[in-house]
Amino acid sequence: MITIDGQHGEGGGQILRGALALAAATGRGFRIDRIRAGRAKPGLMRQHLTAVAAARAICDAEVRGAELGSTALEFHPQAVRAGDHAFDIGSAGSASLVLQAIVPALARLATTSTIAITGGTHNPFAPPVDFLRETLAPQLAAIGWSLDLTMERAGFYPAGGGRVVARIGAGGAAQPLTLLERGPRTHQEARAVIANLPGNVAARELAIVLDALTWAPEHGRIVRLDGAGPGNYVAIALGFAHVTETVIAIGEKQTRAEQVAATALTDARAYLRSTAPVGEHLCDQLLVPLALAAGGEFRAITWSAHAESQRALLRTWFERDLAVTRTDDDVHVAVPAMT
Ligand code: ATP
Repeated sequence: MITIDGQHGEGGGQILRGALALAAATGRGFRIDRIRAGRAKPGLMRQHLTAVAAARAICDAEVRGAELGSTALEFHPQAVRAGDHAFDIGSAGSASLVLQAIVPALARLATTSTIAITGGTHNPFAPPVDFLRETLAPQLAAIGWSLDLTMERAGFYPAGGGRVVARIGAGGAAQPLTLLERGPRTHQEARAVIANLPGNVAARELAIVLDALTWAPEHGRIVRLDGAGPGNYVAIALGFAHVTETVIAIGEKQTRAEQVAATALTDARAYLRSTAPVGEHLCDQLLVPLALAAGGEFRAITWSAHAESQRALLRTWFERDLAVTRTDDDVHVAVPAMT
């Protein structure tokens, strides 16, 4: 059994989700202690518990310690099987983060699984559904993994109640990823999205973003979503031949529309200043998939604490390391196939 220190790296929920993904994919059990020791409220929250339940369901695992607030967990999987499941986080916790724990194991199978998750679809500090669809899924497709997402309803904090249906698996043969250049610009779009809020919020956000990026009006769109409660976000999609980056800023009560637009612009500018194709969040989210598929290499704009945590997890799991080389402007990452 593999033993993991949950305090390692940035000490958040991602190390747990990574371990669940690796356990379900490789059939090896693990014990994790000091879960989320780096966070103000340590231990398992609803989103993490749902990730454990989802991982357990796909590989019929024996689990100990899966309770709210628990700081230790044991997970003993059996062989992963494709199937259809529905999970309800029971809060506005992120549905995308639950997917992070099961996509790697299900994506390798020859049969498609359909997974429906009720919870949050657009959360701060988590991949919004737009990011999974536009930025992550195409790179997974390039390594032979199929992830197709439908957002049936948006879910924002605090109301939650969003619903995402993911069809995972039955891609092609595993392929190594080579993502060293962006390629020419192919498309760009700014979206100001609102649910149950006045339209002027979105109009103000869109005007600021289009003006700051000097984009013509046809590159902007206001989207009204159906959701259980109020919600707002600004997404800026920067599309190139080999990669699309989607930066997203989520509106919150007390935060002015101008501030939401400014946050999205800061992230978009950081990406546009670099020539590396892989943005901060895609970087940490590619490491486990590449290790489980056929490996690969990419250039990233930065190397985050989340990426370092995933690297440490892979080292513990497989006793193999990535090669991470920093230059003045970017980071070159080479991931060997580890299974
Ligand atoms: P914690 O348990 O630590 O409270 P958590 O379980 O909600 O937090 P983290 O461990 O912080 O989550 O992991 C967050 C994940 O969400 C990382 O994979 C990160 O790359 C991703 N992420 C965060 N913000 C964005 C964003 N704007 N776009 C895409 N992905 C994001």
